[in-house]
Amino acid sequence: MVRYTVRVALRLSVDDSTVSVRDAARIQRFLRDNPDYLVKVKKGILYCGLCGRGPFTKRGLYLHLTRVHAEEIARTIRQTPESPRKP
Ligand SMILES: [Zn+2]
Repeated sequence: MVRYTVRVALRLSVDDSTVSVRDAARIQRFLRDNPDYLVKVKKGILYCGLCGRGPFTKRGLYLHLTRVHAEEIARTIRQTPESPRKP
């Protein structure tokens, strides 16, 4: 699930069969609402949105996020509601 999330954030190709439809919807929604959570782009260069380290290549940032921040990302996604809360 973390790998899927990071791949979506980096706009890499994703294999939808690796996550449930519910998780995919939750992840898409989370990233749409929090576009800078995982990835910050400054002048076209990638930095980690969680700790600010960088610059990274896409692959470098993918590896950094999945190795260093996997637990944090998994926790955050689990806490994201599947559908928007009614105001
Ligand atoms: Zn980081």
